[in-house]
Amino acid sequence: MKDFDIKVELTKDKKEKPAFDQLSFGTNFTDHMFVMDYTKGQGWHDPRIIPYQPITLDPAAIVFHYGQTVFEGLKAYRTKDEEILLFRPDQNMKRLNRSNERLCIPVFDEELALAGLKKLISIDKDWVPNVEGTSLYIRPFIFATEPYLGVAASDTYRFLIILSPVGAYYKEGINPVKIAVEQEYVRAVTGGTGNAKTAGNYAGSLKAQVVADAAGYSQVLWLDGKEKKYIEEVGSMNVFFKINGEVITPVLNGSILEGITRKSVIELLNHWDIPVVERKISIDEIFRAYQEGVLEEAFGTGTAAVISPIGELFWQGEKLVINNGETGAISKKVYDSLTGIQTGTKEDPFGWRVKVE
Ligand SMILES: *Cc1c(COP(=O)(O)O)cnc(C)c1O
Repeated sequence: MKDFDIKVELTKDKKEKPAFDQLSFGTNFTDHMFVMDYTKGQGWHDPRIIPYQPITLDPAAIVFHYGQTVFEGLKAYRTKDEEILLFRPDQNMKRLNRSNERLCIPVFDEELALAGLKKLISIDKDWVPNVEGTSLYIRPFIFATEPYLGVAASDTYRFLIILSPVGAYYKEGINPVKIAVEQEYVRAVTGGTGNAKTAGNYAGSLKAQVVADAAGYSQVLWLDGKEKKYIEEVGSMNVFFKINGEVITPVLNGSILEGITRKSVIELLNHWDIPVVERKISIDEIFRAYQEGVLEEAFGTGTAAVISPIGELFWQGEKLVINNGETGAISKKVYDSLTGIQTGTKEDPFGWRVKVE
């Protein structure tokens, strides 16, 4: 790897660390952060690691008004041998640049950003928790900083990476969730920004989430924005179904976010010779499969939970209970394999792990 010039300013007062056996999600942050600036004509410049601190922006900064911003989410894990491992971080950097292109944000050097990320983790390595199921959540993000109220792409940007130790997603083992099929709101449309990790998609999804939550469902199943017929995602996860022995996931259509967990699950299933297809799949087809008794499993995939089995789908007044509301065999196998590779307890035949020195 190239030797990048990343300046480091260490903090003079280290924070007290939270108890690693009582971590919640996204509330504690480490001692340092990575920062890099973009100025038109100059490009990305001044990559540096500085003490974690608030940022000051002009109230007219474009990000506040028009949402020109993108983000990523990945994790670092501490192994039993005290190694620190990342899972396919190159894929996150690639996707961040793909999101950039969609939002008219200038692309950055992925190798430099990865070097910055590794250096940051290495400086804050004592924050990578060592309790089973815990990890260090990594949030890279980029936002438009130019003070300007015209609707236009900014001439200046900032790239930050912050780190947050997080607790086990499943406190009592992997657990199926109840999902409501969303019939009113949509998350994204083809041609829109659904395949970019950009703030507006998530702001726009809150309403459906609030309504589902009040009705006792943990997430919604999103249908396509045009016909409200084809399945897209579940909450902010990709979704898989097992019907009659075959695993099916919606084909990437421009409005679905291309998950790295999704991609890894497909590669794992192929490796095991379990049939998996990417195609359009309608909610009617899911309902028919349920009635015929061949809807065997359903699960969401994403960095936060890795695998989130779906125990019940609520659709047009019907409760579709899947696999007796229990975690299915494929869901469990994929979960155990992926988390095993991520945390270093299993072999890594695909070379997905990246060690932080
Ligand atoms: C991030 C995200 C996913 C999952 O992506 P992973 O790379 O697997 O974490 C799926 N859907 C949406 C909408 C997302 O934002």
